[in-house]
Amino acid sequence: MAESTFMLEIVTPEQILFRDEVQFMVAPGAEGELGIMKNHAPLVAALNIGVLRYDSTSGTQKKMALSGGFIEVIDNVARVLAETAEHGGDIDILRAKAAKERAERRLQAREDNLNLARAEMALKRAISRLKAAEAL
Ligand code: ATP
Repeated sequence: MAESTFMLEIVTPEQILFRDEVQFMVAPGAEGELGIMKNHAPLVAALNIGVLRYDSTSGTQKKMALSGGFIEVIDNVARVLAETAEHGGDIDILRAKAAKERAERRLQAREDNLNLARAEMALKRAISRLKAAEAL
């Protein structure tokens, strides 16, 4: 199996969250999903808030929530630089549900001082966390 894998690194300003060989990944590209396998052509792309999926060397599919950033693929290393990233299993589901409800309330109430873009981004982050945690 090793010959069909490549290195995936997920880096945030806080830590190297993940660094391991994977068989396949799909990243939430700003212009659509980016599927990456071994020997992918060199690539630099912006990422949206969303879910990154990868297949581990043992073949299990894993999910992570990302809140935007960039991906660089070169020489069989895919490096994701993300503002925040969490493994699906590490996500605090209650916190993400509370963040989702807070953002939805703000968007519905439309008070004069609403920062629309900020509320929309908070909603997207919460939805992607719930999807990565398989709670939505
Ligand atoms: P909240 O309103 O709940 O703080 P947020 O979208 O504003 O959500 P961020 O600013 O994106 O939170 O993240 C702040 C830090 O908290 C980051 O390190 C992020 O990984 C972590 N984090 C945010 N929400 C969760 C969650 N539901 N479970 C685990 N970690 C989380």
